[in-house]
Amino acid sequence: MTQPSRPLLGCIADDFTGATDLANMLVRGGMRTVQTIGIPADNAPIQADALVVALKSRTIDAADAVAQSLASLDWLRAQGCQQIFFKYCSTFDSTEAGNIGPVADALLDALTDPSATYEGKESGAHKHSHRFTIACPAFPENHRTVYRGHLFVGDALLSESGMENHPLTPMTDANLVRVLQRQTQSKVGLLRYDTIARGAGAVREAIAKLRAEGVHIAIADAISDADLYTLGEACNDLPLITGGSGVALGLPANFRAAGKLESDGPAAALPAVEGSAVVLAGSASKATQAQVAAWLAGHPGFKIDALALSRGEPLVDQAVAFAQQHAAAAQPQTVLIYATTSPDEVKRVQSELGAARAGELVEAALASVARRLRDAGVRKFVVAGGETSGAVVQALDVRMLRIGAQIDPGVPATASVPTRDGEASVGLALKSGNFGTVDFFEKALAQLDGARA
Ligand code: ADP
Repeated sequence: MTQPSRPLLGCIADDFTGATDLANMLVRGGMRTVQTIGIPADNAPIQADALVVALKSRTIDAADAVAQSLASLDWLRAQGCQQIFFKYCSTFDSTEAGNIGPVADALLDALTDPSATYEGKESGAHKHSHRFTIACPAFPENHRTVYRGHLFVGDALLSESGMENHPLTPMTDANLVRVLQRQTQSKVGLLRYDTIARGAGAVREAIAKLRAEGVHIAIADAISDADLYTLGEACNDLPLITGGSGVALGLPANFRAAGKLESDGPAAALPAVEGSAVVLAGSASKATQAQVAAWLAGHPGFKIDALALSRGEPLVDQAVAFAQQHAAAAQPQTVLIYATTSPDEVKRVQSELGAARAGELVEAALASVARRLRDAGVRKFVVAGGETSGAVVQALDVRMLRIGAQIDPGVPATASVPTRDGEASVGLALKSGNFGTVDFFEKALAQLDGARA
C-alpha cells in the first residue's frame, strides 16, 4: 500500500503534556504522529498520519486562546488534515470564561460552510444547522467517566474530586452541560449513555435530532472504552471533534476503514539516533525522587544545588565536565544530572530564594547543561519534570517531535524532527514528574538506544 502523503487528523492541544498524551494514544492506534511545540513557522510538508499542535492556551485570555487555536487550524489545514480534534484535559479544566467553549465555537465557525448548511429559516437562527461537534473529556483508563452529562473522577463527582480547589481552573460544577453552556452562546445538549450503548447508528440518529433542535455542541457520555469506540465511529464525518485523549481511541479505525491508513505500518518507528545520552532531573515529585534514588544506587550522578547556583558557583561547567569524563572513560557511562531533592530541602531553598527564583535557577542550569552536552555530541536526553522538559526542549531549539512507542503510560519515546538544514535529530524521553516506574531512566535509555517500534 502506498504511504499517505498528507496527514489525516489535525489536533490542537491546550497544553504540552496533554498533547503528548494524545499523540501517544494515536500512535498506539496505528497513526504515525508528529507533535509540534507551538505553531510551526512554515508549511513545509510533514510525513505523518496525525499532527498535534501543542499550545499553552488552557488558562490564557480567551481571545488569545481563540487566536492561537485558529492559527493552528490554518496550519493544520495547509498540511491537508481532513478532520480536526481539539484536545483538552480529561477533567475539563477551564475557567468560567473559557477556554473550551470559545475555542470550540471559533473552530466550528471556521470549519462550517454557512452556504452549504443554510436551511432557509428567515431568522437565520438555523444558519449553522450543520455546525455541530461533541465534547467528551471521558478517559475511563484514567478513571474519568461521563454519565448523564456529569463528570466523575473515580467515584467522586468532579466538583468533589479535589479539582474544586485547583489553583488556576477550579471545577466546582460536575454538570458539564451547565459548565460548557456558561462558556458559549451555542446551544449545548447531551448525548446520553443509553443512546451510545445502542451503537453508532443510534448515535448518528441522536446527533441528527440534536441538530434539528438547534444544538451545536453535545456533551457525550462515556463510561467505558467501548463507548469511546462507538462515539469515534459515529463521529467519523464531523469536521471537528473535541475532548480528552480518550475519545481519540476510536478515530484511527475510521481512517483505516476508509482505506486511508496503512493498517500494519510501524506507526511508532523513530529515526535512528546515534550518540551518547544524559539523564536530567529537575522534578522534585515523589516518583522522580524514587527514580533518582534507584539510579544513584548503581550509576553516576551529579547534584545541582540551587543555593550554590545562587552563589554563582560554576555547577554547569562541573556537570558538563562530569558527564564528559564518564563518556570518555574506558567503560563509558551515562550520567544523571539532578536537582531533585527532599521536600524539606526544597522548602528550605525556596524560603531563602523564593520558589520562582529557585525554579528559574534550576531550570536554566539544566537547560544549559543540555545545550552544552548537545554541542559536545550528546544526542539522547531523558528528562524528568514538566517545566524542566519545556526548558530543555527550548534550549535544544526543538520545534517538532516524532512520537514513538510508549515507555510508561503517557510517556512515549520521541525523536526531534530537524527543521533546519544540517540539524541532527535528537532522541528525547520527556516525563512529567510523577510519571513512570522506579526504573524509568534505564527503561527510557534502553528504548532510545534500541528497539524502535
Ligand atoms: P514536575 O513535573 O514534577 O512538576 P517540573 O519540572 O514541572 O516538575 O517542576 C519542578 C520545579 O521545581 C522546577 O521549576 C524546578 O526547577 C524546581 N526545582 C527542582 N529541584 C529544585 C530544588 N532542589 N530546589 C528548588 N527548586 C527546585
